[in-house]
Amino acid sequence: MLKLVEGVIILKALHMLAYLLLWIGGLNWGLVGFLNTNLVAALLGAGSALEKVVYILVGLSAVYVILTHKGDCRVCGEK
Ligand SMILES: [Zn+2]
Repeated sequence: MLKLVEGVIILKALHMLAYLLLWIGGLNWGLVGFLNTNLVAALLGAGSALEKVVYILVGLSAVYVILTHKGDCRVCGEK
């Protein structure tokens, strides 16, 4: 792990950003399933570049969380 304070702050910010984006992605997908409403598309415009950017960021967040989860998670860290 990085020992620099700045590194820790960046990692924390990345962690929280990725976590937040997974909330958005998961809740939006739930909305699509339950209510047939895609809030991301409704807010940013269906088919817009901004909509696509959000989907890409959610996907990248999933990869980030998959790769860093074990170190962050108390449950997975237990033996
Ligand atoms: Zn875990």
